[in-house]
Amino acid sequence: MTPPALVIAIDGPSGAGKGTVARTVAARLDYRHIDTGAMYRAVAWQARHEGVDLHDAAAVAAVARRAVLSLDPRIVIDGSDVTDAIRTPAIDEAAAIVAQHPPVRAALVERQRQYGAVGGVVMEGRDIGSVVFPCADVKVYLDAEPEERARRRSHDAAHAAGRGQESTARVAEALEARDEADRTRRVSPLRRADDAAYIDTTSLTIDEVVARVMALVEATRGREASVATRSAR
Ligand code: C5P
Repeated sequence: MTPPALVIAIDGPSGAGKGTVARTVAARLDYRHIDTGAMYRAVAWQARHEGVDLHDAAAVAAVARRAVLSLDPRIVIDGSDVTDAIRTPAIDEAAAIVAQHPPVRAALVERQRQYGAVGGVVMEGRDIGSVVFPCADVKVYLDAEPEERARRRSHDAAHAAGRGQESTARVAEALEARDEADRTRRVSPLRRADDAAYIDTTSLTIDEVVARVMALVEATRGREASVATRSAR
């Protein structure tokens, strides 16, 4: 019997390891990997590109609704490949601003639900298990000590552009400020869904985290298969 195509939600703050873990789990399962942070980043990039005021919720939401966006494997918005351009300090800040606007979130959440509608996705973000897919089959919340998250972020090649010789202390400060904004915003703040498995990745390797997530996936598959067998009887 073909295993059911699951929706796997991976949430957590920056530098907790979501990206690498989500990508690896998706590759193992042959699922799509959706990085929702990249969606907020791409919309912020496009809004700036068009000279839209990032604080104008309606104008940014219009960009989010109208833009042609593709995520696989490069991030392309309205014909511009922004894969590298969206990993700069300026876009870190811009994405956190646009992500606070309810109509921008509504537009992107709708797209995210479409991507996940048929299952077979590993979706990473801040609100996937709490808002986008509250009924996700597997929910994981990855976390790590702030110092470790800053250390990872300052060693992350994907985030090297425009950062120069920025010190880990400076990265830690910016990361903390952004996490605080994500945690305290009125709409869809970063929070662990009550039923999400909490994994502190501070002293774990990527392989160890992936193994834990895969164990949760296997357990869910086992449960769903036994329900299917029971209801077929
Ligand atoms: O994950 P990443 O750091 O790329 O996300 C960029 C920004 O997008 C975050 O600071 C956060 O404000 C926002 N975001 C969000 N909801 C998501 C994913 C990202 O608000 N599901």
